[in-house]
Amino acid sequence: MTALVTIVIPVFNERAVLPALHRRLAEVLAAAGERSELLFVDDGSDDGSGPWLEALAAEDSRVSLLSLSRNFGKEAAVSAGLDHARGEAVIVIDADLQDPPELIPELLRRWREGFDIVYTVRASRRGESWLKVGSARWFYRVMGRLSAVPVPADAGDYRLLSRRAVDAVRALPESHRYLKGLYAWVGFPQACVTYHREARAAGKSKWSYWRLWNHALDGITSFSAAPLKLATWLGLATSTLAFLYGLYLLLRTLLYGNPVPGYPSLLIVVLFLGGVQLICLGIIGEYLGRTYDESKRRPLYLVKGYRPGADD
Ligand code: UDP
Ligand code: MG
Repeated sequence: MTALVTIVIPVFNERAVLPALHRRLAEVLAAAGERSELLFVDDGSDDGSGPWLEALAAEDSRVSLLSLSRNFGKEAAVSAGLDHARGEAVIVIDADLQDPPELIPELLRRWREGFDIVYTVRASRRGESWLKVGSARWFYRVMGRLSAVPVPADAGDYRLLSRRAVDAVRALPESHRYLKGLYAWVGFPQACVTYHREARAAGKSKWSYWRLWNHALDGITSFSAAPLKLATWLGLATSTLAFLYGLYLLLRTLLYGNPVPGYPSLLIVVLFLGGVQLICLGIIGEYLGRTYDESKRRPLYLVKGYRPGADD
């Protein structure tokens, strides 16, 4: 008997793409000849995705359906999927067909070679604005510099995890989950597969720039304390500059007397220092807020219903 493979699919208002997604996954899995479980995680959809998935689960015994009590966001939905996946290998894939299911046999092949995490890297991204692609690239560079564990640049969430990698990720307790970082943090042998990312098959992206910004902050704050050190360095730099400037003013007054001016320089210094202080306070606030959130120890998500498929 072959090992069971679970495909985890976070779904938030994806009614338009679900039929095509299910068809393509079924084709690929049939060709791969693996025993499989399709675990759909309904992340509080309100566009009819839920009822459609329920009907699908009733009809296709490979389909498991986990419904969350409301929209918790993609990272929580994927975490819920990892918690409920029963397979020996787990593949996380977006519902919108931007991640081609046709890559699954390749992911499985690398897993059988002994890799615990097979992640995918997007060689190109179609149908995404230059601003999104550019900001994503920039973010991954910064992340790569700041974080103690290297997070592969341009790697998506589309990936395969072995059972022990899944268990390792599940054991990490933080509630601000930056999964790409967590996957990197657990280590284990990792392999990479490159592909060309398609445009969304239908529907539209749930990630506004605001959401992406917050996600990026989660990534940086949970994997690096470097921004906190910024205040120290800024303080040292401004003190040095202030000292030099003070020396200059002193000498100038001694040599040329004091013809009153100084208002513009005063204002510039006051505004500059005010700005630096507010930025530093903001950075501390970001960390403090996250520490506060973690200290509440709330569950990552709540389950409204779970209907496991047949496990044969
Ligand atoms: N998603 C989710 N909960 C959310 C937002 C998104 O489960 O709150 C799912 C969504 O249904 C899709 C995947 O996460 O399967 C990726 O979302 P999207 O395509 O909007 O992100 P993008 O590809 O633009 O990064
Ligand atoms: Mg997408």
